[in-house]
Amino acid sequence: MRSYKNIMVTGGSGFIGANFIRYALKDTNFSGRIINVDKLTYAGNPENLEDIINDIDESRYVFCHKDICDYDEMNKVFMKYDVDCVIHFAAESHVDRSIHGPGEFVRTNINGTFTLLETARKNWLNKPDTLFHHVSTDEVYGSLGETGYFYEDTPYDPRSPYSSSKAASDHLVKAYHHTYGMNITMSNCSNNYGPYQFPEKLIPVMVLNILAEKDLPVYGDGKNIRDWLYVIDHNTAIWNIVTKGRIGETYNIGGENEWTNIELVNTLCEQMAELTGKPDINYYKKLITFVKDRPGHDRRYAINCDKLKSELGWKQSVTFADGLKNTLRWYLKNSEWIDHIKSGAYMEWMNKNYNKR
Ligand code: NAD
Repeated sequence: MRSYKNIMVTGGSGFIGANFIRYALKDTNFSGRIINVDKLTYAGNPENLEDIINDIDESRYVFCHKDICDYDEMNKVFMKYDVDCVIHFAAESHVDRSIHGPGEFVRTNINGTFTLLETARKNWLNKPDTLFHHVSTDEVYGSLGETGYFYEDTPYDPRSPYSSSKAASDHLVKAYHHTYGMNITMSNCSNNYGPYQFPEKLIPVMVLNILAEKDLPVYGDGKNIRDWLYVIDHNTAIWNIVTKGRIGETYNIGGENEWTNIELVNTLCEQMAELTGKPDINYYKKLITFVKDRPGHDRRYAINCDKLKSELGWKQSVTFADGLKNTLRWYLKNSEWIDHIKSGAYMEWMNKNYNKR
């Protein structure tokens, strides 16, 4: 089992990164320091970590408000904190935004990953006990028909600017392993859900619109299929890979939990009706509105994660029913977090980009 003293987490103020930092500091045997490097784009929210930061001393957690594309700044962080592990979450992560503005995706996801790899390569010469873990998506594999699964050796076939930029960054990470001998691991994960997810992704968009009794926009015929994983299970998988995974390897992470979008939205409506005390379980379903499909919308993602299970003994710990209930309860309890986000740019962007059919 490998251990580290100073883990640089990029994008640690975003949805998965913040959940990861909370998990690493509170629920693992990690006794070193986390250095959270985040530019705080619209998706980065310092409030995502507010509760734990007050309890944790500076020897365990540092925040660096920096851009991963800035080589000099990354170099300073590496040297100042003697970084021996990078867990790289920072990315532009929303497919719809990538369609409207691909430039930022190329910059952060490709150039940013390249900058971090270069920084690590130069700082880790003759330092064998180091690791660069790259967090990626199953979307790099393209789209499936009604059957079949993505495996670690499925050829890449990305379709959106988001997935293409992630695919490019995956290739760079692998190249640094093969060309320079850098210690790397990689993970490709399916759709995450859970607390602190920015309200532009499917589940929080629906939850917030249900609460406001606004339209629930569902793309196309609603039959696109996604595999859903509770964010904590993504993070336990990453921790297993970082501490025990074979160097140079990719591990797929998934929920083995496929739902069509419309099934998911119906379930959310039902659970929210129950949680908000509506007498009719179908009360919110009248809000469902089919909207014009996303261009290049992948039909089905499904992931095979047997390698992770058999090699590292990982398994999902949260059922979809429980994970969804926890998530919905979290959004209901954290109205202040929601209000702060709502006052930002996201509403404007949402209104502009979802066109009714
Ligand atoms: P997110 O959009 O919630 O957070 C991204 C974070 O990165 C934000 O805090 C943002 O401020 C930061 N960031 C963006 N550009 C930056 C830059 N140039 N420099 C420094 N920080 C920057 O994303 P997320 O959903 O938490 O996803 C995290 C990672 O996991 C991404 O790499 C994504 O591709 C991958 N992933 C996400 C999912 C999912 O369902 N959300 C699934 C599989 C993989």
